[in-house]
Amino acid sequence: MKNEKGAAFISGAARGIGKAIALELAKSGYYIIANYRSNAKAAEDTLAEIRGCGGEGEIIAFDVADTQQALPAMEEICSRTDRIDILVNNAGITADGLFVMMPENDWNTVLDTTLKGFYNLTRPVLKKMIPKKKGSVVSIASVAALLPNRGQANYSAAKAGLIGASRSVAAEVARLGIRVNVVAPGLIETDMIQDAPVQNIKSMIPMARIGKAEEVAKVVKFLCSDDASYITAQVISVNGGMF
Ligand code: NDP
Repeated sequence: MKNEKGAAFISGAARGIGKAIALELAKSGYYIIANYRSNAKAAEDTLAEIRGCGGEGEIIAFDVADTQQALPAMEEICSRTDRIDILVNNAGITADGLFVMMPENDWNTVLDTTLKGFYNLTRPVLKKMIPKKKGSVVSIASVAALLPNRGQANYSAAKAGLIGASRSVAAEVARLGIRVNVVAPGLIETDMIQDAPVQNIKSMIPMARIGKAEEVAKVVKFLCSDDASYITAQVISVNGGMF
């Protein structure tokens, strides 16, 4: 099952949802290129788990929002990789606060991580996918893009922008055999929600529980697979029934 399907690049794959996606795709036979920003120990643990389940891959550190880091890194990866079949734009951050009090830096870093990250990663990978007429791009948005949520104007804007960008790009590359979709998780048990008022939020979830990273990863795996061959430009919610 090793490398027979080409490579899958996953941003923010050292922890949480990105790590679960990396493991699912590794088990499906993809060579995993796992990006992270700073937590090298977590990234090395992810790579060890990929190898532990019979997969292969590598880790690469750069900030997806920083064009000076991201573009040379992506060019280098694309130049030495025969096929990148999958790109998962997963890296994302929060910097919550009421909008009228929000420092400019909290607005910029949240939007840059999501939207400049999408730009910096998706363009070079699409240029690699287009000649092969094959590929799947999945970006991780959030329920916050779809439902109003106090204190997350920056995050909601970033994730709604991600949906808009993804659907536009999907329309551009659909005839080229490349599918572009979005997964919008609800509340998922990762480091990101460690300070969230989980009990309050649980009461808003019809299934009355927090989701698992693996439950998001399995949907991403499906969207990347040939089983989803007629699905593009869609937003799939994984949120326990929130609406
Ligand atoms: P975590 O905080 O658990 O993990 C985030 C990962 O992204 C880490 O590996 C981190 O790297 C990496 N990362 C963050 N910023 C950058 C950057 N600028 N460049 C490269 N890597 C970066 O988050 P989750 O797993 O919870 O979230 C994953 C995605 O899912 C995000 O886009 C998030 O917005 C979205 N999401 C999460 C929900 C949740 O409830 N958890 C709900 C809805 C959406 P490092 O380890 O080096 O810091």
